[in-house]
Amino acid sequence: MTAAAGPAGGPLKVSFEFFPPKSEKMAEQLWRAVDRLQPLGPAFVSVTYGAGGTTRQRTHDTVTRIQGDRGLTCAAHLTCVGAERAEVDAIARRYWQAGIRHIVALRGDPPEGEDSYRPHPGGYENATDLVAGLRRVAEFDISVAAYPEIHPDSPSSQADLDNLKRKIDAGANRAITQFFFDADTYLRFLERARTVGIWVPIVPGILPVTNFDQVSRFAKACGASVPAWLAHLFEGLGDDPETRRLVAASVASEQCRRLQAAGVSDFHFYTLNRADLTYAICHMLGLRPAAGGAAGAVGDGTAEAQPGGGNTDV
Ligand SMILES: Cc1cc2nc3c(=O)[nH]c(=O)nc-3n(C[C@H](O)[C@H](O)[C@H](O)COP(=O)(O)OP(=O)(O)OC[C@H]3O[C@@H](n4cnc5c(N)ncnc54)[C@H](O)[C@@H]3O)c2cc1C
Repeated sequence: MTAAAGPAGGPLKVSFEFFPPKSEKMAEQLWRAVDRLQPLGPAFVSVTYGAGGTTRQRTHDTVTRIQGDRGLTCAAHLTCVGAERAEVDAIARRYWQAGIRHIVALRGDPPEGEDSYRPHPGGYENATDLVAGLRRVAEFDISVAAYPEIHPDSPSSQADLDNLKRKIDAGANRAITQFFFDADTYLRFLERARTVGIWVPIVPGILPVTNFDQVSRFAKACGASVPAWLAHLFEGLGDDPETRRLVAASVASEQCRRLQAAGVSDFHFYTLNRADLTYAICHMLGLRPAAGGAAGAVGDGTAEAQPGGGNTDV
């Protein structure tokens, strides 16, 4: 990607998150999304690790194929759930041997049916512990999760920030946030993180919304708030996917452009394996595929925001 600077920030840099497909049909959807977004020249793409570690092999296969066949730099998500340290270390080593150099290190959520998280016997206790373990395995680039609106298990915003600091001190070199809808929430969080001495990039996680009910459920589960204005914008559009997509593109691009105006230049998109809405938002931020399909970006990132189409059906 060549430089498309945000008004106050550095060169525009995007990353895209995918999940490993479960069926042939889902695999087709994933590869369509990867192929559509690849020309935008992401800094990296990442592949999630299913709750409870259920997608271990599928995550591995998807990561190595995206990097091997498509030539994109790929990050593998890895959690502490359901495995002993030695097993997790072996997974990491296998990634290293396959040329994967970036891990998104996470604690993970409790397995289905359990309310609270308990470390696996002999397993890594939490993300901090996992980051330290990965550092012993190899010189990975390590990203961790951050929560502008506090993780639901955390007793306070200060405790949550202290936890993020521990993850960075253990060796992580980037944080990616949980999704949020109010740009100020992220900007305030960033300011607070800097005051406690967290200086690594904290990349905003952007979730383009077109299925409002589904996103409300996601938000409830992870402690993100859904502003009343957002609910109002999607009101009455349950049976109108076309208008929903236009509204969704407008909402997400406005959110990103507010962040860009405040100097943010890195964005991580939760694509849910659909490309069009993410592509449209990147376009509005100023990113362009270079001739010949290689990475490229033009403009100064100040293009007019306008509703655009996408087929994301979050
Ligand atoms: C960008 C991103 C990607 C994700 N990808 C995946 C994925 O692929 N697969 C998946 O299963 N989940 C994923 N998740 C969800 C994540 O696993 C959950 O949010 C999980 O509940 C917490 O993981 P963590 O790594 O933030 O945990 P941790 O940083 O370990 O902390 C979790 C909570 O416990 C508290 N805590 C931890 N240690 C202490 C301590 N010593 N004292 C007090 N409090 C403590 C923290 O404050 C925090 O509130 C992702 C989340 C994000 C933001």
